[in-house]
Amino acid sequence: MKTKILLIGIDGLILNTALESKRAPALASLKESGYYAELTMDAPTLSGPGWSTLLTGSTHAQHAVVDNRFSGHNLLYRPDFLSRAYYQDQSTTTFAAAGWPPLVDPAGVGPVIHERREQARANLHRVIARDGETYGYERVDAEIATVSVFAMEKFGPDVSFVYFCDADEAGHSHGVIGAHYVEAISRVDSHLARLHSAIEQRVGRYKEEWLMIVTTDHGHVDEGGHGSDSPQERASFVIAKGIGRENPKWSAKIAPEDLASLILDERA
Ligand SMILES: [Zn+2]
Repeated sequence: MKTKILLIGIDGLILNTALESKRAPALASLKESGYYAELTMDAPTLSGPGWSTLLTGSTHAQHAVVDNRFSGHNLLYRPDFLSRAYYQDQSTTTFAAAGWPPLVDPAGVGPVIHERREQARANLHRVIARDGETYGYERVDAEIATVSVFAMEKFGPDVSFVYFCDADEAGHSHGVIGAHYVEAISRVDSHLARLHSAIEQRVGRYKEEWLMIVTTDHGHVDEGGHGSDSPQERASFVIAKGIGRENPKWSAKIAPEDLASLILDERA
């Protein structure tokens, strides 16, 4: 039986702030019991290039996403890891849910996650796109969490990506020192806990093997904001927790563009 993958992307998360706040118990326990490595993202530390690298396994030069406008991008030739899993094995079911439209919405710029309309029509690929830029991420992340928990419980897709942006939005509005950022982290952590428990229930019920992975695309400067090459903006991480199986034996030092292939190797 192949390992099922759930990658959770938490935009703009400073891991140390989350752990020191003691308001992210789900994240802390995954880090404690899982594989952990620091990642150093390349500048510009923006979500467009950052997620494009993490999700497609490409360098900035390869995917040519230089900012959040995506003009001149090369993503049609740099398929995301859901698509690559499907191309490896055409029985693979995939799921993506995000409130930042460039990641998932074919109506706008990007998207980083390919639409794959034929597989969507065949129920092999399901994409949930919401608009947190318009409606705010506190509300939209909660919707993304609910629909993703439902998808995990009911379908248990083979390879999934679920994305939360509440913490990044709070960082931009209020900076990352103080209560607002930590409150947002705490809300995202509760979404993480729900997803974790949905997977644990599947593992108990169906004896499946799962790998739950958490990462971020960049940090923030103290007053909020990112894009430059300071260590705090470039700081990312990977946590990978095996559920119903061992943790992955990835090396202690990996590059952001390595993650997609490492994930796919766990399915081989
Ligand atoms: Zn941001």
